[in-house]
Amino acid sequence: MSIEIHPAVASCLRGFEVPDRLGFGTVMAPVMFRARCQDGCWSTGELVPYGPLALDPAAKVLHYAQSCFEGMKAYRTRDGGVSLFRPERNAARMAHSAERLCMPPVPESLFMEGVRTVTAYCANLVPASSGESLYLRPFLLGTQPDLSVSASASYEFYVIASPSEAYHAGNMRLWVEREDSRAAVGGTGDSKVGGNYAASLLSIARLKKRGYDQSLWLNPGNRRTVDELSGMNFFAVIDGELHTPALSGSILEGVTRDSLITLARELGYTVRELDIDIEELLARVRDGSCSEAFACGTAAIVSPISVLGDDNGEYLLSSVPGPVAVCLREALLDIQEGRAEDRFGWMRPV
Ligand code: PMP
Repeated sequence: MSIEIHPAVASCLRGFEVPDRLGFGTVMAPVMFRARCQDGCWSTGELVPYGPLALDPAAKVLHYAQSCFEGMKAYRTRDGGVSLFRPERNAARMAHSAERLCMPPVPESLFMEGVRTVTAYCANLVPASSGESLYLRPFLLGTQPDLSVSASASYEFYVIASPSEAYHAGNMRLWVEREDSRAAVGGTGDSKVGGNYAASLLSIARLKKRGYDQSLWLNPGNRRTVDELSGMNFFAVIDGELHTPALSGSILEGVTRDSLITLARELGYTVRELDIDIEELLARVRDGSCSEAFACGTAAIVSPISVLGDDNGEYLLSSVPGPVAVCLREALLDIQEGRAEDRFGWMRPV
């Protein structure tokens, strides 16, 4: 595939200064990738200056939420190069999300071209301290201006990028969410679509008032087993084994989750993907047989959980990161940042 580079791209990149304090997802790289799809036919990709989108107020995405996205990172490796981490998994997940919302999947070759082009042109913006990265946000939206409830005939695919610090979410206090669901049975919980996140915000606003950080969502079918957090997957160490909820249809299949399962098995842990009953989990936190719990995702990597709370009170885990969380976080970052051999073939140098 060929790609068009807008004439202003070089001057945008030359004139861009990376601020000292990055935060997470707040500093935007000055260029973005764009491709359009009309009636199933994809245009050539273009690299253009970063800027506002021109959307018709009747665009389907604004009314019927035909929109999906991905979150992934390019890392500065020890040899000074830049590598993407398992980007094919994000391409496949985005295709799954698109199909669920009746949108044309972005072809893997176009997705890879988008993330590779943005990363290559922004290579100087990839920060070098451990835990920092170029966060990439590919997204797809339905743009047809038409208020009838039907799939859009036109779509736009973008990749924007943000040089970022590690997202700090350590020592999280989780509230067991028994009122709302973030996903429905047969719904979109296993897809990365904007509506899932919108549906989680009220719960988070409520629990923040009670002094908690994140919701622990239960399965919408049985209201009894643990699914995940709003933007991260869940793990618990129980009797020395690593347990994580089996993919239930309402859980997003995290790339980090899959990578940690592989790494933990290599390190000799027994890992089980199973239904985790919330009452049993809380009892095990109380009696100490659950020694640690953590959440994982691209942004925060591994985030220890210090408290689970519900109407019956608080269930306390350690306030310092547990040994399994620390060991897995290091093992993953060592591969991502090129300090350890890429023995699973996960890294894609750009
Ligand atoms: N669950 C949800 C709902 C998420 O938004 C994310 C972040 N993409 C994850 C889990 C973790 O997925 P990943 O490890 O691929 O970032």
